[in-house]
Amino acid sequence: MIERTLHTARLVQQEWLSQSSETKHLVFAIEDMERFDFAAGQFISLVAPRDGKTITRAYSLASAPRNNEFDLCLNRVEEGFFSNFLCDMKEGETVKFHGPHGTFVLRNPLRDSILIATGTGIAPIRGFVQWLFADDSRHQGRQIHLVYGTRYPVDIYYKDYFDLVAHDFPNFHYLITLSRAPDDWKGERGYVQDQVRKIIMARPESERTNMDAYVCGLNDMISATRKMLKEELGWERKQIVYERYD
Ligand SMILES: Cc1cc2nc3c(=O)[nH]c(=O)nc-3n(C[C@H](O)[C@H](O)[C@H](O)COP(=O)(O)OP(=O)(O)OC[C@H]3O[C@@H](n4cnc5c(N)ncnc54)[C@H](O)[C@@H]3O)c2cc1C
Repeated sequence: MIERTLHTARLVQQEWLSQSSETKHLVFAIEDMERFDFAAGQFISLVAPRDGKTITRAYSLASAPRNNEFDLCLNRVEEGFFSNFLCDMKEGETVKFHGPHGTFVLRNPLRDSILIATGTGIAPIRGFVQWLFADDSRHQGRQIHLVYGTRYPVDIYYKDYFDLVAHDFPNFHYLITLSRAPDDWKGERGYVQDQVRKIIMARPESERTNMDAYVCGLNDMISATRKMLKEELGWERKQIVYERYD
């Protein structure tokens, strides 16, 4: 078994992103560490004891590196062990973790990109956007599209933040699509892959494959999106970076 260094993170702030779907934004500070370095998009493995065993679950870092803190975007899963443990944590309490881990990170060199997420899959994407738009030399004026899909308007997490980035940076394009939109919803409807197809087809023909996609969420959405990009639009596998939550 690989020995991993365990760190202790203290919950310093929490807020509901959606109370009806029980999704929280959590801010942790790591004890005995001045700076936590990782690549935006990576995850950490949280560990906790349960019935004499150690339970480990992966959670994407929902922020870019900043001092010794990190954010998580957490959805309570009914009957789930770790998501309930985290969701019920009180400020000041601690949890152990190891990491950072994972290869869901931005490519270098960066190309025009489509960031695609559903639900809490927005977590690593928020990290990408925070990192990219903190410095012009990072996004380099590339066209960055964010396509976020969810069922209902209450589950549009971090909307104010992404609206602000879209307002400040003309090369950042933020599109929300709802699969169960109410009648008065004025935005896009349907699944993310349909919006992604539209965005790509709106580019000149010679510009439709010189991009990358970063996809995060549940497996069904990732499979459907990869299939569409490869089979309909002729993209290569390596152009599609993805992180599956289930
Ligand atoms: C790389 C990676 C990054 C992840 N990042 C995040 C994140 O940023 N935010 C986040 O909220 N979750 C994230 N997850 C999911 C997370 O690791 C757990 O799977 C989830 O919190 C459920 O754990 P649990 O212990 O509460 O449920 P468990 O006790 O493991 O499972 C209880 C039941 O819920 C089902 N279930 C398991 N996972 C999910 C899920 N994600 N959605 C719906 N049903 C599920 C199981 O099939 C089981 O029936 C990530 C997963 C991976 C692999």
